[in-house]
Amino acid sequence: MKALIVGEYRNGETLECTYELIAFAKKLGAETAMFMVGGQDDPPKYDGKLYMADSAKYGEVNPDVHTKLLLDVAHQENPDYVILSHSSYGWDLAPRISFDLKAGQVSEVVDIDDGSFVLPAFNGKLHRKVTSKTGITVVTVQSGSLNMTEQPSGTPEMTLVGGEDIETGMEFTGYEEVESAGADLTKADVIVSAGRGIGKQDNISVIQELADAIGGELAATRPVVDAGWTDHSRQVGTSGQTVSPKLYVACGISGAIQHLAGMKKSEFIVAINTDIDAPIGEVADVFVVADIKQFAPALSAKLKRA
Ligand SMILES: Cc1cc2nc3c(=O)[nH]c(=O)nc-3n(C[C@H](O)[C@H](O)[C@H](O)COP(=O)(O)OP(=O)(O)OC[C@H]3O[C@@H](n4cnc5c(N)ncnc54)[C@H](O)[C@@H]3O)c2cc1C
Repeated sequence: MKALIVGEYRNGETLECTYELIAFAKKLGAETAMFMVGGQDDPPKYDGKLYMADSAKYGEVNPDVHTKLLLDVAHQENPDYVILSHSSYGWDLAPRISFDLKAGQVSEVVDIDDGSFVLPAFNGKLHRKVTSKTGITVVTVQSGSLNMTEQPSGTPEMTLVGGEDIETGMEFTGYEEVESAGADLTKADVIVSAGRGIGKQDNISVIQELADAIGGELAATRPVVDAGWTDHSRQVGTSGQTVSPKLYVACGISGAIQHLAGMKKSEFIVAINTDIDAPIGEVADVFVVADIKQFAPALSAKLKRA
């Protein structure tokens, strides 16, 4: 069984999700090759065959052109699986190449169980398992869903691909990074984060008070942001910020994969939740079973007295 991994490269660096894809392919039990549009002087740490196209020529983000480059490599390698990250880059490429390769596409995979792909359903409340019936399958893997036990290592056997100009029906005129306004949580040492378990918007002040008492920044899960209880700049997770503070206090947060992906590298995690079985317990160093609406004000008061 062979898998073609599609690495990601942004702002001159290999993205972490590339290494997650290598771990995923290993768990699948596949022999691998990798495709990347990146910098040939600074390839990913990888022991295997790497097809590298030059990002200086083709751009770091240019889906039409990258699709053509990737398809050439896929036709050459003839893999059973093409594995991409479930990122905006993967979302752009996966359907395009699935269409051309007449491949089944399995999106947002979080695990492999006995040869089946495990995917979230009902906004993460359920898991479903699927297998593909097509000869080639295109898979997108949710970032943060695998526990990476090994540090990336190795030097790839690199083959340069492309070189010529690639014509598509579209001209790519460039991209601009959106300037982030609001909180920069990536620099915070302490983060106190509010989940849906806080119950209502008024209780944001309770979590803010705890953050102030500990000397931390307020953060939140996506439902809290979607409800308008706090600003999007405070969202942690796959569609928010990725943080790694010394202390992360998760208040009424279930621990969905999309949230864990943004905070599981925190040095010390305290979770406060009424449900002892909440998945956040899998990453928490301390798990407090309590109602956050009672626990947070009591802790803030105690800290203020200390
Ligand atoms: C494409 C995509 C991208 C996403 N991106 C993100 C992202 O960037 N960030 C993100 O956070 N989510 C993201 N999500 C949503 C994610 O799947 C979850 O729905 C979300 O993280 C759940 O948020 P939550 O833990 O606040 O809410 P819930 O899952 O509803 O959990 C609430 C928790 O609070 C507990 N609780 C209830 N009452 C109390 C109480 N009184 N005291 C203490 N605990 C209590 C419950 O036991 C439960 O564990 C994304 C989803 C998708 C599909």
